[in-house]
Amino acid sequence: MRLLLIVVLAGAALAQGSPGLVDFVDPVRLREDLTYLAGDEFRGRNTPSPELDKAALWLEDAYRKAGLLPAFGESFRDGPRRPDLGRAKASLRREKATDQLRVAIGVDTPAEGRDLKVVLDAADLGDAAKGAAVIVIPDPGQSLRRSLRGRANALHRLGAKAILLSEGHAEVLTGVDLLPLPVLLVPDEVSAWSGEQVAAAAVDFEIPLSDQFYASNVGAILPGSDPTLTAEWIAFGAHYDHIGTGEADGKGDTIRNGADDNASGTIAVLNIARAFHQMKVAPKRSCLFLAFYGEERGFQGSRRFVANPAVPLRQVRALFNLEMLGRPDDIEANSAWVTGYSVSSFGEIVSKLESGVRFYEHPVLSRRLFAASDNLPFAEKGVPAHSISAGSLHADYHQPSDEVKKIDFVNYASVVRGIARVGWAMADGGPVPEWKAGTSYAAAAKRLRESK
Ligand SMILES: [Zn+2]
Repeated sequence: MRLLLIVVLAGAALAQGSPGLVDFVDPVRLREDLTYLAGDEFRGRNTPSPELDKAALWLEDAYRKAGLLPAFGESFRDGPRRPDLGRAKASLRREKATDQLRVAIGVDTPAEGRDLKVVLDAADLGDAAKGAAVIVIPDPGQSLRRSLRGRANALHRLGAKAILLSEGHAEVLTGVDLLPLPVLLVPDEVSAWSGEQVAAAAVDFEIPLSDQFYASNVGAILPGSDPTLTAEWIAFGAHYDHIGTGEADGKGDTIRNGADDNASGTIAVLNIARAFHQMKVAPKRSCLFLAFYGEERGFQGSRRFVANPAVPLRQVRALFNLEMLGRPDDIEANSAWVTGYSVSSFGEIVSKLESGVRFYEHPVLSRRLFAASDNLPFAEKGVPAHSISAGSLHADYHQPSDEVKKIDFVNYASVVRGIARVGWAMADGGPVPEWKAGTSYAAAAKRLRESK
């Protein structure tokens, strides 16, 4: 209570002068936004899910209303498109009745097939799965319904284009959520072609894409005000997905709200963007504000971004990746730790700036969690990219109890303000980080600089 009072008074005192950056980071808005995004109606923001889409649309709308520009050409969203199954057709034929089976699949005209490869495990397909339509055949001892998602995920990672399932097994699709790959039903005889679990036909295979996203990143930009430095970028990012629903806890709650992980980071990025935009003059360097999908499913959104960047990656001077800012728990107030503190000068730079927040190297988590979030795909490309967190791995991590009521909003607001201040200093022409010599990231940065 006393803390709250002090914060309110400090805010009032500042408001008497001309408002500055910190005043534009509005604690009321932070609380409202986080409360909304972590609400039960988003059902834990799983990737992919209609609720994740709804969150993306809300974020897009918020960035547009805040006056930011879309990052992806005309669009605030970017991501893989869902296949248009209504327009996809599979036709299979067995060309000769020998061990060497051939499969031909075509949308209009059947493509020339290659030899059928039979393996027991999707992982054994290796390169053969790339671009292939893979026939999934149930193991008699196993429930295909239960294993289908795992197999679909594995095949998706291997680059497969579609799953072929015999018509006789169509019932396993009932009640299965959206899979990362389209499933095409083929005549029952296909499963008789092989007694094994998984068979792949590596063929040229095109399925028309719909205009619907499978899942999407949300990105917004604020052009820099300096004629030269505007070509350089400072990025702020956070994953907005979480892990959906699961087993009920003791209170019967199934929804993993992800209030701290990572509505807190997402809402921080959004409100930093709002504050930057409200300043009379934009910072000298351009700023990029990102919300990533699929972090919890293996950094899907950030990997998508670095593979199809909205701005040239070699012009991105730093990524502030914000993760779990709302639960100081066992760390001191007004402090935040930086992952990978020792591998670049990022931590040293932000810790020396006047911000009201102590940025430091956590004795355990700074090292352990550097490779555990969306900063990693950027770092691997050579972009100085670190996560900033203001909490610990609390007992509510990935549980239904990661709820809004556990967020310490007073500390959260001051940490977000501190990040806004150091982010602004860097964007407004301040020193930018470099990887420490001898690290693999420094080598990647060298390759990135030399790339066209
Ligand atoms: Zn997270």
